[in-house]
Amino acid sequence: MTQHSAEVAIIGAGIAGIATAYYLAEHHNITNVLLIEQGQPMAFTSAQSGENYRNWWPHPSMVDFTNHSIDLMEKIARDSNNRLHMNRRGYALATRRTQVDDLVEQIRYGYDNKHDDLIRFHGSSDSVSYKFAEKPDWESAPDGVDVMQNQDLIRRAFPSFSEEIQTVLHIRRGGDISGQQMGMYMLEKYRAQGGRRLTGMVKQINQQDGFELEIETGEGLTRVKAEKIVNTAGPFAGKIAEMIGETLPVYNTFQQKIAFEDVEKAIPRNLPFSIDLDEQCIDWSEDEKDWLAGDDEYKWLTEQMPGAIHCRPDGGDNGSWLKLGWAYNETPQDVAWEPVLNDQFPEIALRGAARLNPSLKAYYGKLPRNMTHYGGWYTMTEENWPLIGSMGENGAEKGAFMVAALSGFGTMAACASADLVAKWVAEDGKPKYASDFSLERYQNAPLLAELKEASKGVL
Ligand SMILES: Cc1cc2nc3c(=O)[nH]c(=O)nc-3n(C[C@H](O)[C@H](O)[C@H](O)COP(=O)(O)OP(=O)(O)OC[C@H]3O[C@@H](n4cnc5c(N)ncnc54)[C@H](O)[C@@H]3O)c2cc1C
Repeated sequence: MTQHSAEVAIIGAGIAGIATAYYLAEHHNITNVLLIEQGQPMAFTSAQSGENYRNWWPHPSMVDFTNHSIDLMEKIARDSNNRLHMNRRGYALATRRTQVDDLVEQIRYGYDNKHDDLIRFHGSSDSVSYKFAEKPDWESAPDGVDVMQNQDLIRRAFPSFSEEIQTVLHIRRGGDISGQQMGMYMLEKYRAQGGRRLTGMVKQINQQDGFELEIETGEGLTRVKAEKIVNTAGPFAGKIAEMIGETLPVYNTFQQKIAFEDVEKAIPRNLPFSIDLDEQCIDWSEDEKDWLAGDDEYKWLTEQMPGAIHCRPDGGDNGSWLKLGWAYNETPQDVAWEPVLNDQFPEIALRGAARLNPSLKAYYGKLPRNMTHYGGWYTMTEENWPLIGSMGENGAEKGAFMVAALSGFGTMAACASADLVAKWVAEDGKPKYASDFSLERYQNAPLLAELKEASKGVL
């Protein structure tokens, strides 16, 4: 039986594990690290990501955290000649409402009430100060939010949007990246600094004199001795925690997306990541509605659906594909390595998205044959905040850490999450939000009460 040893063993080489390996080396010079993955790196949840990022969150801690992550991604973009294809067309939040004080207040609170100058209003008398991003470059894009209620301006800036749309909140520090390229860049840097990898499934963790991991590999059972472990097992983070007798307050829901070639040229290539904030009843024909309503399994498809269906062009300004997603599934499920896709999802997402962009109706019942339909797990806490830091009450003393519950924001938050857990591992000074994102927050009753009432920011 082979035996390995390392100062730190990282379990899982999705974006969280790879970024952790990268920042341990990059920021703390910790390179006696073994990154353990049962399959290919970046091939599980991280391969399913929509790869969008934004600094729009309903709470200042999440805003600070994602802003820091975007800063770190920008550094990688600069250092790598933008290998991660970072761009910035923002997030356009569209609603049929004219009264949006609550949404503006949420943004203001997220910006910590200090940054009123980051919120720019474009009412009926103002059509000049809003500048639509002509290029997708991130370097020149502004921060903040443009709150647009001038109808001419909305029609000009977002010509594919339904005429029903009365308000658009355009979050500017947002866009998309190639998460795969970011992961590969960090993995290469980690390897170049002497970091090691092991392919195998962690089956058991014994706690004596640090940790001893039992790992099933292609060549049989292997043991790894490690002073410290970091659990970055994505949807399986709860199972890894159980191996050291800890229970994490996490659950998994299955979420899906579709991507297809926009052969009808229904969507302008410069459309930001666009979200319909309003609830809706899906646009079925009367016959379809009758058929669905008569079947207990499908009746729910005729009832009111939540907001947040989203659409964006994929592949840049010269590409031709679109991505649609709708994270309406709130039912926790037992995690599986090969989850089952819902055959109805493509048509549901298409019809939902056509409410905001009616030109998508051209695809009703005839989505292109080369459409891809995929999905993965959102590993979540009840409040949709991540869990980063000590794994269990005395985890830090024992040397057990985690980056878990990255939900639908793990690509955008990977850098800040890994930077933070690396500080826990290296016992370095941590940022203000560190305790909010660790298990310590469950001792903070006022924060939990606040989060219970707040929007969860699930997209
Ligand atoms: C449909 C969808 C759309 C999304 N869109 C976005 C988006 O637009 N923007 C964004 O920021 N985020 C998005 N996300 C979220 C993001 O993809 C995830 O939060 C992120 O990929 C999680 O990364 P991870 O490394 O924690 O998990 P994973 O990528 O799942 O990595 C965990 C790894 O651990 C390995 N592993 C597990 N158990 C073991 C074991 N016992 N032994 C060895 N290896 C093990 C697994 O094989 C896996 O490779 C989306 C997610 C989904 C599902």
